[in-house]
Amino acid sequence: MTFYSEKLIAVAAVREAADLCQSVQRELAGGTLQKEDRSPVTVADFGSQALVCSRLRGAYPDDPIIAEETASILREEDNVEICRQVISRVREIRPDAEASQVLEWIDYGEHKDQADRFWTLDPIDGTKGFLRQDQYAVALALIVEGEVVVAALACPNLSLGVAPGEKGIVAVAVKDEGAGLYTLRDMKLVGAAKVSEATAPAAIRLSESVEAAHTSHSGSLQVTEIMGISTPSTRLDSQAKYVVVAAGDAEIYMRLPSDRRYVENIWDHAAGMLLVQEAGGRVTDIAGNDLAFKHGYLLSGNRGVLVSNGLLHESLLKAIETAGIK
Ligand code: AMP
Ligand code: MG
Repeated sequence: MTFYSEKLIAVAAVREAADLCQSVQRELAGGTLQKEDRSPVTVADFGSQALVCSRLRGAYPDDPIIAEETASILREEDNVEICRQVISRVREIRPDAEASQVLEWIDYGEHKDQADRFWTLDPIDGTKGFLRQDQYAVALALIVEGEVVVAALACPNLSLGVAPGEKGIVAVAVKDEGAGLYTLRDMKLVGAAKVSEATAPAAIRLSESVEAAHTSHSGSLQVTEIMGISTPSTRLDSQAKYVVVAAGDAEIYMRLPSDRRYVENIWDHAAGMLLVQEAGGRVTDIAGNDLAFKHGYLLSGNRGVLVSNGLLHESLLKAIETAGIK
């Protein structure tokens, strides 16, 4: 089996990070932490990155890591308190961690350039969802020669049709070896990830971002109208949208540019893309091009993202073109 140990390390890393994030989110719910303040998500974000990067560095010292956060912010005088909290959160899980070591772990994620082999991490994808007590994900992927080969996504608040009553999912995929869905709590397999085969407009379910700044809601409405789809979209934050498509709980995830200049970051898509592909679905940009993981931390060769069960993909691309969305 290829990338077997990478898969195990990746899963252990995202689960441990999700533990830290959940403990912060629970306190946010309990009112111990202030909701208006973004610092809880900042603390969880940095803490998550520290834990994942330290594991990756320990196992694969030569692999660069392209992650979302940079520790330099934590070294600023104004952020002494946040920094203290990050260290104390990490110590709940790694009691022996030195303060300087925690910052060093976060620094490991500061790589930005393309490499033959590297990891990409979103320590908390869907920060807005995290603050709303809603969906977020810890998303980790390994990219080798421009191809995503391992994906691990922890979605602590996600429930799926295949696992009714279960909250918290880990989705795992290895290129050409399929994808599985597990309980976050104890890694019980809840099923192989397999996209839905539905094509009839009445049965089609669309998932999209909550944030209007991240996707054009009016654009997706236009596209679904052209397709004859009338079921209202389900909006959720983070790469949980990819998991939902991979699990067959939605047929489409559309991300239509709402900002002309915005270029997508690789950590928002690498893990989700492999998961959906291994579940039998298709992922392209809105012009039908494959997502190109060969431009460092940005998907600079692509515009928007279209994810589907595969069967609907060509008609969706046509509908996007008909709607004049670019
Ligand atoms: P979502 O949870 O789908 O709303 O996506 C969250 C991600 O959107 C964040 O991780 C950001 O990197 C990304 N993001 C920020 N600004 C934009 C934008 N203008 N268009 C698309 N995505 C964005
Ligand atoms: Mg993100």
